Amino acid sequence: MLQAGNGVARHETKSVDDARKAVEAARLVQPEWASRTIQERAAILERAAKRMLRERDALVHLVKDEMGKHEVEGLFTEAVGPLDAVKAWKRIALRASSKRVFLNPIAFPRKRARVTMMPRGVIGIIAPWNFPVSGLYRSVIPALMMGNAIVLKPSEHTPRSSAWFVDHLAREVPSGIVSVVQGDGAAGARVVESGIDACIFTGSVRAGAKVRVRCAEIGIPSSVEMGGKDAAIVLADCDLDRTAMGVTHWALSNAGQACGAIEIAYVEERIADAFVEKMRRAWERLRTGPGEEDVDVSPLATDAQLATVEAHVKDALAKGAKLVCGGRRTTGRGYSPTLLDRCTAEMDVVREETFGPVLAVVRVWGADEAVRAINAGKYGLGASIWTRDVARAERLVERLDVGVANVNTHAFTGAVPDVPWSGTRATGFGIANGELALVNFAHPKTITVDENALEPFYMPFDRTFRELGSALADAQLGRVLEAVKIPLLLRRRAKRLRAFWKK
Ligand code: NAD
Repeated sequence: MLQAGNGVARHETKSVDDARKAVEAARLVQPEWASRTIQERAAILERAAKRMLRERDALVHLVKDEMGKHEVEGLFTEAVGPLDAVKAWKRIALRASSKRVFLNPIAFPRKRARVTMMPRGVIGIIAPWNFPVSGLYRSVIPALMMGNAIVLKPSEHTPRSSAWFVDHLAREVPSGIVSVVQGDGAAGARVVESGIDACIFTGSVRAGAKVRVRCAEIGIPSSVEMGGKDAAIVLADCDLDRTAMGVTHWALSNAGQACGAIEIAYVEERIADAFVEKMRRAWERLRTGPGEEDVDVSPLATDAQLATVEAHVKDALAKGAKLVCGGRRTTGRGYSPTLLDRCTAEMDVVREETFGPVLAVVRVWGADEAVRAINAGKYGLGASIWTRDVARAERLVERLDVGVANVNTHAFTGAVPDVPWSGTRATGFGIANGELALVNFAHPKTITVDENALEPFYMPFDRTFRELGSALADAQLGRVLEAVKIPLLLRRRAKRLRAFWKK
């Protein structure tokens, strides 16, 4: 048995060959890892997760240092989840790893079949920076749980935070099972070329499209999850205080740098003034730091992100939006929570992913108009409807062309391993989380067993065989007189076959 690793393999990638080395090293040890049971692998991952929980303060500081995420957000969104995630993926993997399938006992006598999920081998994981550790739970943990090795290419903006996570795993899993390839987009492209068996990409539409095409050309499966532009539909009968609280949370958490952040509020005209005023009064009191013990809205993670936010706000104002509050830099990469009213579909804040602490209010005459606008947008990750009429909202969400539709709440399932997280349109067709996502990490292998039954469908064919076919078809139509003939026809076929094959 291989020894647990005492450090993660790191590979600088100046060329595809460098990335290939990581994959080849992983391939050598992966079969032994795959030969262990799910329970054994889970126990190892649980040990690593417990160590992460014990050492969480170091992670919180690292994430703050690398991307500015404030401590309290770092604690809740990055540090508290690894053990729960491991336990959940163990449950999901055990449930899905081997299943009996139904075979019609008349058509297939004494045969049975089961489907087992086989690890794909070495999985390349290309990750973004916005949740540099917790964003990896849904790829790294199930990949390892199913018996794969992984090669992770973290974002160039958060290399140390993501490596911290892999380092903790590397202390427990066999050497070579996890490795990190550092670098920018070019390094990600090299990982795709390096001989991996499957690729999990999370990031922008632009890079995701390239990864998806290249994986298809090489002939490996890819799960590609890209951007979002989530909207909230705020109906006139909503609980205004609770809605303002919820929309604010999902718009400003992580400084809006979440694929499932609410970036647009379609607000019914009748309450639009009241909603905007309530939000303004709250948003002007939220703290952006520094120098305060608790900060509500973290700064942006990169200069590029800050530039995009400023450009979108400028574009909206030039096209007639009304600045309700915010719209200015604070200190460092801080940006004040920004509410824009009277936005329209022509503005970038409504069309494109902003990924910042900005909410575009679009006034609508009713829910139908909002649903149509969401379905006509570029992205299809999530949306929510805020109302007291829950029954009506449950009917409305059926019409939303998105991967995650919510009533009076928003993207909380993004961190729940049991629930699929996926999208439509430009968001991509990747599925993260849930049993359906296991196909990213394992391929189904069907195993059939025949307990030496005499096969009535083998050659030679004869009149009885034809009659058997007709009886099977008629039986499905409920023709009882034909159905009762089946056992007799099967016996006749058996006799004929034995006589033929004895010679
Ligand atoms: P990005 O596309 O710039 O980078 C993501 C990763 O891909 C990085 O590791 C990067 O180095 C790598 N990369 C870049 N070009 C590449 C190429 N040609 N080939 C291979 N790899 C390449 O995205 P980002 O700015 O890091 O992340 C933000 C984006 O991620 C947002 O659009 C956000 O919505 C999205 N996101 C989506 C989800 C989801 O579940 N749908 C979750 C988190 C983030």
